[in-house]
Amino acid sequence: MARYRGSVCRLCRREGTKLFLKGDRCFSERCSVDRRAYPPGQHGQGRPRFSDYGVQLREKQKVKRMYGLLEKQFAATVAKATQMKGRAGDNLLGLLERRLDNVVFRLGFATSRAEARQLVKHGHFIVNGRKTTIPSFLVKPGTKIEVREKSREIARISGALDTLEGRSVPGWLEIEKENFQGTVTALPQREDITLPIEEQLIVELYSRY
Ligand code: SF4
Repeated sequence: MARYRGSVCRLCRREGTKLFLKGDRCFSERCSVDRRAYPPGQHGQGRPRFSDYGVQLREKQKVKRMYGLLEKQFAATVAKATQMKGRAGDNLLGLLERRLDNVVFRLGFATSRAEARQLVKHGHFIVNGRKTTIPSFLVKPGTKIEVREKSREIARISGALDTLEGRSVPGWLEIEKENFQGTVTALPQREDITLPIEEQLIVELYSRY
């Protein structure tokens, strides 16, 4: 599958906010957004001017990059969110949060979503008793995620769990660190997602097409 191979810190600088794409570095003084708080490129330090469309587009790009999705997958998620009952914006964030790669990251088994995605693809997780390698797998209340017995020695996983204190596990998830296990206890609610996201702008953007 195609994926972005450029500098991920550039993406944060472009969106003007931390997207937490690089694990521990994002929480350190080496974060590029902290060191160079302006967009990348020759005209990065100029004064940005955005139309309504531009504001919506930037919000969409920000969330898409935050969750590590490419356009086609993101557009399909927005379409699904729009067809569901309730507020499309809330549905969209719920669908993104319920992705297995995001849940692995949120539970602290990885230091970034990109790392979580790779660990899932490499078959290090068991979901409800079955090996699952699909990062877009949607969890629901009651879903149990555990690190495979063989994979518990992997330094990236145990190292990520060791640094979990610095990050908080959201209320809809429960982690049993010593057993390398996590459980989904509820559906994520809007208030559980503390990221600076204006999801309505994204829904408005796709309603233009
Ligand atoms: Fe973004 Fe993390 Fe790079 Fe900072 S260190 S710019 S938050 S990816």
